[in-house]
Amino acid sequence: MEKPVRVRIAPSPTGPLHIGTARTALFNYLFAKKFGGHFILRIEDTDLERSDKKYEKDIFDGLAWLGIDADESPEKGGKYGPYRQSERIGTYKKYLGKLLADGAAFYCLHSEQELSAEKETLMAEKKPLAHWCEFRDVPLADAETKLGQSHVIRFKTPHNQKIVFKDIIRGELSFDSELIGDFSIAKDIDVPLYNFAVVIDDAEMKISHVIRGEEHISNTPKQLLLMVALGFEKPGYAHLPLILGTDRSKLSKRRGATSVIDYKNEGYLPEALFNFMALLGWNPGDEREILSKEELKNEFSLEKIQKSGAIFDITKLDWMNGEYIRKKSTEDLVALCLPYLEKIIAPELLHATSYKLQTIIALEQPRLKKLSEIGERVEYFFKQPEYDKELLRWKKMSDTDISASLEKSEKIITQFKSTITKTEIEKEFLKEIGDGDKGIILWPLRVALTGKKASPSPFEILEIMERDVALERIAIAKKKIVA
Ligand SMILES: [Zn+2]
Repeated sequence: MEKPVRVRIAPSPTGPLHIGTARTALFNYLFAKKFGGHFILRIEDTDLERSDKKYEKDIFDGLAWLGIDADESPEKGGKYGPYRQSERIGTYKKYLGKLLADGAAFYCLHSEQELSAEKETLMAEKKPLAHWCEFRDVPLADAETKLGQSHVIRFKTPHNQKIVFKDIIRGELSFDSELIGDFSIAKDIDVPLYNFAVVIDDAEMKISHVIRGEEHISNTPKQLLLMVALGFEKPGYAHLPLILGTDRSKLSKRRGATSVIDYKNEGYLPEALFNFMALLGWNPGDEREILSKEELKNEFSLEKIQKSGAIFDITKLDWMNGEYIRKKSTEDLVALCLPYLEKIIAPELLHATSYKLQTIIALEQPRLKKLSEIGERVEYFFKQPEYDKELLRWKKMSDTDISASLEKSEKIITQFKSTITKTEIEKEFLKEIGDGDKGIILWPLRVALTGKKASPSPFEILEIMERDVALERIAIAKKKIVA
């Protein structure tokens, strides 16, 4: 029987969950789900100074919002826990002790000054920046007598060895141990460093495949050396392409490297971001761009991941989010929009008017890209808009033309005694306009009603807006013109 698929992400809680980590989580999750395996969330919080519980929570919340559910995690527990590195120190200590006892690791007693002096010399001589430590063959018992001074634990790297592994995305990758040197694996027996702790956790948690960002490629040979020394089985490897901005530079904070929760607050739907991230370096092999979670689970494969950088295009995300907004029932969309409406429209206006919120939201549903846009888009339904008089002017209309235009609109609307339907009022207006320029009548009217350059048609608005409110707004517009 083949080994069960077990994959993981191991973020450090030193900052919020950003898109890069979320994309890695998503690819691991999809791979696990495709093969009925487990997706594991492990928290790498050994850097006690920089780790913060608030960021740990941000990671949990962000993944939960996206629907990337871990099968094993600090919150959920699991057979191979604990899932926080800070709770696994005893385990690391056991393996460090073993490597030291076997002579596979040793105490390097060089001071930081000595090491940086060596580095400068190597740089000046244009040699590889590898520290081949003269303490590597000092017997452990001797070294232990000198531990008062500064020290780290290093791995005793074999000379002149080729370290080769097959990456599922990139094919065979090869490294020369001469360029690596005796690398540090722990500050002390109970302070493990990254490359060491990862190897131990992955082995203990029976990780079958390591799927992670490209920036980890250079860590892989070190981790493989440790696995050999510890007699661990090697996992499969897949290194994901970098995420780049549309100008192909590394993603900056401003364009996407922000927290996943920021996307939530901006009004992106989790299913849209899920879909969007799945296409950051992967595609289904055809033109489809909108893929449901189920489709992605079935179709995802590591083999189809590209080697070159994945472009993060925010306009594509906006488009995709709009597509997902269109899929919502109006009822659900109202509920999603409410928190954003409440931010800019006073609750007494929002809930005490006779306007039907559902109708207003339905009017915007075909155009909306982000939930956060809703307040600004529909605010005019709830209060008299502020706008500059000049906005009422269509092309080269004079003030007199505008006043006359508004009066015509006023007259037509007044004919309607109570309910206005879109079709009926449109018919009346088109009768009035005839073959003339529609803008001459409809532009000043639309601006009078909304105060906006762009909005739904005045007919759609008049169907929802109370007749008397509409007439009052036209009166205000007329006053602006004569003022
Ligand atoms: Zn040394």
